[in-house]
Amino acid sequence: MTEDLTVAPTGRPRRSLTFRILVGMAAGLATGVLLNLLLRADTVAGGPVEQLIRTGIVDGVFYVGGAVFMASLKLLVVPLVFVSLVCGTASLDDISRLGRIGGKTLGLYLLTTAIAITLALLAASIVRPGAGLDLPADLSFATKQAPGFADTLVNIFPSNPVRAMSEGNMLQVIVFAALFGFAMTLSGAPGRRLLEFFQDANAVVLRLVTVLMEVAPYGVFCLLAKIFALQGLSAIIQMFGYFCVVLGVLLVHGMLTYPALLRTLSGLDPLTFARKMRAPISFAFSTASSNATLPVTLETVEDRLGVNNKVASFTIPLGATINMDGTAIMQGVATGFIAQAYGIDLTLVDYLMVVLTATLASIGTAGVPGVGLIMLAMVLKQVNLPVEGIGLIIGVDRLLDMVRTAVNITGDAAVTCIVAKSEGELSQEIFELD
Ligand code: ASP
Repeated sequence: MTEDLTVAPTGRPRRSLTFRILVGMAAGLATGVLLNLLLRADTVAGGPVEQLIRTGIVDGVFYVGGAVFMASLKLLVVPLVFVSLVCGTASLDDISRLGRIGGKTLGLYLLTTAIAITLALLAASIVRPGAGLDLPADLSFATKQAPGFADTLVNIFPSNPVRAMSEGNMLQVIVFAALFGFAMTLSGAPGRRLLEFFQDANAVVLRLVTVLMEVAPYGVFCLLAKIFALQGLSAIIQMFGYFCVVLGVLLVHGMLTYPALLRTLSGLDPLTFARKMRAPISFAFSTASSNATLPVTLETVEDRLGVNNKVASFTIPLGATINMDGTAIMQGVATGFIAQAYGIDLTLVDYLMVVLTATLASIGTAGVPGVGLIMLAMVLKQVNLPVEGIGLIIGVDRLLDMVRTAVNITGDAAVTCIVAKSEGELSQEIFELD
């Protein structure tokens, strides 16, 4: 286990860092909304002040600050996943456990996603946010190619691990790291020597995570200020019904489904879990990327929730890539919404197809901003709904992306805790520690 990261390198307690991140978020949000109002004001719009705000502040300072922060998080992902998973696999006493852990994890990931999308479809058909909507004439959405299921399976296996790392192909990196770690356990003394090296490297990479977390309050400030300055809140007003249904189901799933599963399947206290998840949730909200948040999720799950690296190093990267409950919720509501807006009735078989496609679609699509819309195109095609309908919801998607990414990573962490607990790999003492 790495050093307890509740103490920042400067010696300040971690609680204050989470607090500063929350302050950074609130300040970024308020600054963004204010700038947006200013940009729209009659006296400013079209003049030199607008130019100055847009190029100097929004696309200048905020863009640079946010982009550097995102890059510094992303640069950690591949080294962290590789080193951490090699350590995890190589220290498994019995390698067949990896299969068992994998089976439980996949089963729970699929189950939570199926619950998520079912809740979404139910909510959309009860509230009917798309009924009676006037469709604008100029809707369009350029579809990108979503990978087929067979290709997705084949693509899990890397033919070139260096390329997999340079492209950040997480499933391939996971497979290579697990194989490498497995070979280390079979190699006797050389394997054990190498394990020491990887354990040291793991400690160093995790230390780097804590160093970079120190600048997080400024990073999240820049990301949120830029988004809200450009986005404003007017898009929400136009799509109010849809926005509220997605948000409502996301909150229900995050605040009811996961706590219920945590409590019933592992007996863990959901409130302690929620309190400790504040930092990764704020990162996910600000970056809208499960992948970029991965270092923080992994660190929290291991050092604050007490999950052993043997489990977390495998389940968290896997979850960031394939488990996207929040995304599935958006897809469920969006499908119902688009069908209602176009006056198309979905049959029960269609609904089942949506559950199946959306659950499978989340496998093999990376956890990066906006990817949910590409997967949505795949779901819509499956049930013969017009893909241009995505044009209706695109305006509010960035905001919902932030919330659903927070749900996505909360699901990864909840499943990880449940699996770890069932394997006797969760330290109750660390979990309960304040
Ligand atoms: N941004 C989401 C994630 O990274 C994916 C999506 O819904 O677009 O988890």
